[in-house]
Amino acid sequence: MTTYFRPSIDALSPYVPGEQPASKVPVIKLNTNENPYPPSPKALKVLQEIPGELLRRYPHPMAREFRQAASQVLGVPADWILVGNGSDDLLTMIIRACTEPGRSVAYPMPTYVLYRTLAQIQAADVVEVPYPEDYTLPVEALVAAGGAVTFIASPNSPSGTEIPVELLDKLASQVTGVVVIDEAYVDFAETSALDLVKRYENVIVLRTLSKGYSLAGLRLGFGVANPTLLSGLIKVKDSYNVDAVACAVGAAAILDREYKDENAEKVKKSRSEMVTALNEFGFEIWPSQANFLLVRVPASVRAEWLYQQLKERGILVRYFQQSRLADKLRITIGTPEQNAALLDNLSSLLQKS
Ligand code: PMP
Repeated sequence: MTTYFRPSIDALSPYVPGEQPASKVPVIKLNTNENPYPPSPKALKVLQEIPGELLRRYPHPMAREFRQAASQVLGVPADWILVGNGSDDLLTMIIRACTEPGRSVAYPMPTYVLYRTLAQIQAADVVEVPYPEDYTLPVEALVAAGGAVTFIASPNSPSGTEIPVELLDKLASQVTGVVVIDEAYVDFAETSALDLVKRYENVIVLRTLSKGYSLAGLRLGFGVANPTLLSGLIKVKDSYNVDAVACAVGAAAILDREYKDENAEKVKKSRSEMVTALNEFGFEIWPSQANFLLVRVPASVRAEWLYQQLKERGILVRYFQQSRLADKLRITIGTPEQNAALLDNLSSLLQKS
């Protein structure tokens, strides 16, 4: 059969993002780790007042306004920041700039599935190192993997577990390739590895406005690293990868740190209440520093069945078709009302089973 594509694309199973609700019926969407609270009112005001002139012109190629705002908030120079169309865009730039067939990408598993997909698109070699059941970072095995790029999500998805900065430090000091510390969920955690970028030339820390800042629909993320490391990534980025609206709205959002922190506190409070409640139902829960929980379902039910039953009742949670995750669900923390609705439904489903 004729194929129009490279062999690596023919062989690729595409990345499948979490499902969208089927219709406009109200659904409690706890499957893709969005923030349950609205974006900053200051960011929404900027959005509502976008002048036509901003849209007529091309945006700044380095998203200057957002970059300056992020620089101010994080206390790092602006030329240490590279902005992207979501942090997924930074992942793409890193893979494109650093890998090719014969140069490998390494990461511990299970983790964010897109690392694998992007590596396969680039036809890079992939080395997957299993996490132990308690999700301690397997530093030695990752060093031995010798990746041109090593991806670590901290807090990790789907486990929610945070990787201690000492272990990331140890990894960065021993790996010769680029170490990507993906801090998509850092706003719900207690620590960050951001300082490592100052000590290690090969480390880049990724952040996003999709989670802590409630702006998943806007598509804005960024990487922080020294200008030497960023220079190679800039060569492969799309010319205007961040649109003018995202740049302006994102700048207002990141400057409103107080609002982001208030929402993160609410999510963390709900997270600990959900841990207590789900424990009482017999779920086993991994210690989470993110806005979601990885839970092993009680032995009386199958995870896929529970996922389906919840879906039929208008509640979406995440079920992964991976053998290691087959008895687990990943549940995003919602508003107190959404969490209560989930618990009510679980209570009746578990009684019936
Ligand atoms: N990294 C991890 C670990 C994630 O879970 C996600 C969200 N799916 C991303 C990065 C991408 O986030 P975004 O592109 O929305 O910034």
